[in-house]
Amino acid sequence: MWWSCPECGSYAEMSGEETAGFAVECPDCPNPMVSQWVWDEPNAA
Ligand SMILES: [Zn+2]
Repeated sequence: MWWSCPECGSYAEMSGEETAGFAVECPDCPNPMVSQWVWDEPNAA
């Protein structure tokens, strides 16, 4: 499960089980990261 930071664009891979129910803080800034369920979109431009 990948997480991304909308503020600085950092990405991190973390276990969904470990992060379930928790907010993931960005390692590079104080903002929360958002889960990135769809990482490799074949049709993404
Ligand atoms: Zn960040």
